[in-house]
Amino acid sequence: MPLPSIQPRLPHAEPMHPADPDSLFAMAVGSVNAACEVMNTAPFVKSILSQPKNELIVNFPVMLDDGSYRLFKGYRIQHNNILGPYKGGVRYHPDVSLDDVKALAVWMTMKCALMRLPFGGAKGGVSVDAKVLSPTELMRLTRRFTTALGQNIGPDFDIPAPDVGTNSQIMDWMMDTYLNTQSNGARQAMQHVVTGKSLTCGGSEGREKATGQGICFVLLELLSQFGLTPEKLRFSLLGFGNVGSYAATILEDCGAKLVAVLDQSGAIVCNDGIKAHDLAAYAANHGGVRGYRAGGAKEIDHHGFYATPVDVFIPAALERMVDEHVAGSLNCRIVAEGGNGPVTPQGASVLARRNIALLPAILCNAGGVTVSYLEWVQNKAGVHWGADRVDDELRHIMVAAASRVSAVSRQYGVDLATAAFGAAVEHIAASYKQRGIFP
Ligand code: NAD
Repeated sequence: MPLPSIQPRLPHAEPMHPADPDSLFAMAVGSVNAACEVMNTAPFVKSILSQPKNELIVNFPVMLDDGSYRLFKGYRIQHNNILGPYKGGVRYHPDVSLDDVKALAVWMTMKCALMRLPFGGAKGGVSVDAKVLSPTELMRLTRRFTTALGQNIGPDFDIPAPDVGTNSQIMDWMMDTYLNTQSNGARQAMQHVVTGKSLTCGGSEGREKATGQGICFVLLELLSQFGLTPEKLRFSLLGFGNVGSYAATILEDCGAKLVAVLDQSGAIVCNDGIKAHDLAAYAANHGGVRGYRAGGAKEIDHHGFYATPVDVFIPAALERMVDEHVAGSLNCRIVAEGGNGPVTPQGASVLARRNIALLPAILCNAGGVTVSYLEWVQNKAGVHWGADRVDDELRHIMVAAASRVSAVSRQYGVDLATAAFGAAVEHIAASYKQRGIFP
């Protein structure tokens, strides 16, 4: 009797949970799978990369300032560590979910591999609106979350960093909590358990601007392929937080012109250029770009923002914001992903059809994890480098990665986005081939 046919399960589907077609994790794994096809990667490597190694969910109570208690849910996803300790940010946001954190962890694996950093990929988060908590509540939440993670993080095992909703203060609290809960006598030498710390607590020069700086290094390296120069470059930004505002001011310092910005507060445009440094100061004081009028800037609606003609559009807000409709309205030559996963697969297809180049997040926004790596190296060596040294190291790593992506794109005849994942997967597959699978 013939055996019943077994439906192959999609790699992102969980037992009892059918795959969600809008899943961010499915989107992340889809990019990895496409790259594996192009690079002819061994099937076992593709299969390993289709799921995280470890998925940790913790529920923990925190006392609020009024004496009441609230239960929070936190996540730490460790996707892959073939190249080194797990590495990835911690996000505090009301929309944090298991699926999204898994996707972000996949992208961290790819990012570290593409940059050739000795790190694997992880991500964490707590489902919370940090803005409604007081500083003392935020501190208790952070300390309790860190304690709940316990020995699942460590300076040579899994190293958290800031992401949306977290900052150097939260990293300092995480480090302090971790050190205070170690029995090991060497605990004071473990400050590299987290990166993105304040300078006072072992942070690196250049970490705060690193992601924006990295976007700039990548663009400077690749612009000539499109016949563009930084001096004549016109760009727009979706999101004007840490990544967006630093990208804007650094690109402006290179001669480029910021033409339009959309953030959570509203959208502004100015054909003659918006002074990015001035806007950054304004947004910090007013909670966003809305209402900025200097130099003739005026308000526009979302459609007008996306349709504004520019050379480069930089989405630097949250995930999935550039769908097929937004991609269809864009009037640019390059989309440089400043945030993680801003372009949906449908959006990417529209961009490809319209001949708009997509520079993926694993290349463009890898400046943050790269300076995190430099912080980790400095902490381990007990040294502190100057800002110029950090910038030089960052430039070297980012430019090498951008050239790697161009080379794979030429060699395999694929777009730059596929090439970036291809260059990452190639490195991971080579390591698996050399080491084999234990036992
Ligand atoms: P942030 O919180 O500082 O800024 C987010 C920006 O997005 C804000 O300007 C906010 O107004 C805007 N925004 C949010 N929702 C919006 C909406 N619905 N419409 C329009 N604008 C909206 O965050 P960040 O640190 O700049 O991170 C942005 C992205 O970059 C995230 O995807 C993050 O994971 C990624 N990233 C950050 C770093 C880093 O070092 N900060 C490193 C790598 C990747």
